[in-house]
Amino acid sequence: MVEYVCDSCQNQICIDRCSRRAVVIPSKYIGRPQSEQEPDLLTGNEQSILKVGESVYQPPQHGWTHDLIERYVNAYDKRHLNGDAWDVYLGSHWCGSSEI
Ligand SMILES: [Zn+2]
Repeated sequence: MVEYVCDSCQNQICIDRCSRRAVVIPSKYIGRPQSEQEPDLLTGNEQSILKVGESVYQPPQHGWTHDLIERYVNAYDKRHLNGDAWDVYLGSHWCGSSEI
């Protein structure tokens, strides 16, 4: 995941010359297969319930995709920066954590 940050920005307002730079943020979602040999977590779980911490998300009509799950996880991550640990589950499969 790439985010754009500016060292001069505070509370969304730029107090000096704005200079946004791209920062690669490691994803808390690790459900993507890392190799061709590895089985895809999504296979058979496209219609499973996604749990991110305390939040529960119903599958979309056409099923989950890795990109979609990652967006939910990243959104949750942004709202929960208080240091409490949380995990990601697709059905019964663990596929991410705040600790990553
Ligand atoms: Zn700025």
